[in-house]
Amino acid sequence: HLPTDKLQALDAAHHIHPFSDMGDLNARGTRVITRADGAYIWDSDGNKLLDGMAGLWCVNVGYGRKELVDVATNQMMQLPYYNSFFQSTNVPAIELSAKLAELAPGDLNHVFYAGSGSEANDTNIRMARHYWASLGKPSKKVIISRHNAYHGSTVAAASLGGMAFMHAQGGLPIPDISHIAQPYWYAEGGDLSPEEFGLKCAQELEAEIERLGEDKVAAFIGEPIQGAGGVIIPPETYWPEIQRICDKYEILLIADEVICGFGRTGNWFGSQTFNIRPDIMTIAKGLSSGYLPIGGSMVSDHVAEVLAQKGGEFAHGYTYSGHPVAAAVALENLRILDEEKIVERASNEIAPYLKDKWLDLANHPLVGEARICGMVAGLELTPDKTARAPFKTPLGTAGNICRDFAIENGLVMRAVRDGLIISPPLVLTKPQVDELAEKVGRVLDQAHAKMRQ
Ligand code: PLP
Repeated sequence: HLPTDKLQALDAAHHIHPFSDMGDLNARGTRVITRADGAYIWDSDGNKLLDGMAGLWCVNVGYGRKELVDVATNQMMQLPYYNSFFQSTNVPAIELSAKLAELAPGDLNHVFYAGSGSEANDTNIRMARHYWASLGKPSKKVIISRHNAYHGSTVAAASLGGMAFMHAQGGLPIPDISHIAQPYWYAEGGDLSPEEFGLKCAQELEAEIERLGEDKVAAFIGEPIQGAGGVIIPPETYWPEIQRICDKYEILLIADEVICGFGRTGNWFGSQTFNIRPDIMTIAKGLSSGYLPIGGSMVSDHVAEVLAQKGGEFAHGYTYSGHPVAAAVALENLRILDEEKIVERASNEIAPYLKDKWLDLANHPLVGEARICGMVAGLELTPDKTARAPFKTPLGTAGNICRDFAIENGLVMRAVRDGLIISPPLVLTKPQVDELAEKVGRVLDQAHAKMRQ
């Protein structure tokens, strides 16, 4: 390939990156990633980095799995594309649907495919409203979500999300979406215990349903653990109370498992970790370990029954719904996760080993809280541990300083406000956990020294 500086110049001239300050990015020069293997990626200058984010929370089986390449090649030769509209389907989409029904919790036995998590969440909004209209309750339209949630970037998915800076661009949210508090005890819990705070946040759902009117609310949506919001692990009291309220008012519970699904939280799905019984579940990312784009909405029997009524066509679909190559790769990815017991090994051996080391980081003078669930973890940075105080520097400065030191140390971590998060491939080995923890410790020391200058 071209030398790095030439690639960077072309990138700066022609490529607009998602969620990037392009001025800052072009001034520094983009990092061009050229290859990957296992849990490591390499840039165009040959630097090797441990990928603490599994790409974008998705490469669960790790990089370089030849079986996935072979399946994609064979499927492309056999049938590179066909749609699943009208009366058609294809073999990989059928087999993937059956496998997903086997793995998913409860009676989430049906799947509507999309090309991404955002598209799947768009589907969920339309599907939840269509469900209620089919039952003769067309006024049930509002979807209740949480502040600081991330559900994607399309107009509807970004509206569902609760990221204020996203809403500020382009006049979001769209109508009939409402937001309640997030269960973010560290930043918003004040003097309450985590348990009290979890209950208080969940009870906002009940208050919001009462305020809007039960006959107006279609569904509640939440990530079992908020990922992009900063790996916010809810207090134990939170999800049982949400579940109780959804049951009481008979509103659909949508679990967005785009990050939590496929082994991230210590079980196949975050809903199992937190005892959630979703009516609809959003999947993407780890479904194919990111090797090809695919997402979907898994729905329970009672929702599918309504959608399957004669004359009740759901007027919705994407050209790539049930794409045969993406479906074949996802199916093979699930086979690898399942047969190689990657989820079990990550949950029973690697996650506890990582947890010990991660929680130790809370002893560092810069760290206000270390939290972890399965193979996803976060750190809060603070100048004052007891007060859980923010820095006086502009929000994000401390996180970005650490993120940049991490790259210098050969580690990819993500900064969220003044916090750091990781979500590594599930195939991480114990020596790689040692490497990760040692590098994070070094990064914190370097950032601490720099911030005291
Ligand atoms: N939902 C959650 C919880 C996510 O984290 C994401 C992406 O990060 C999405 C939805 C959107 O998925 P996609 O980027 O595939 O559209």
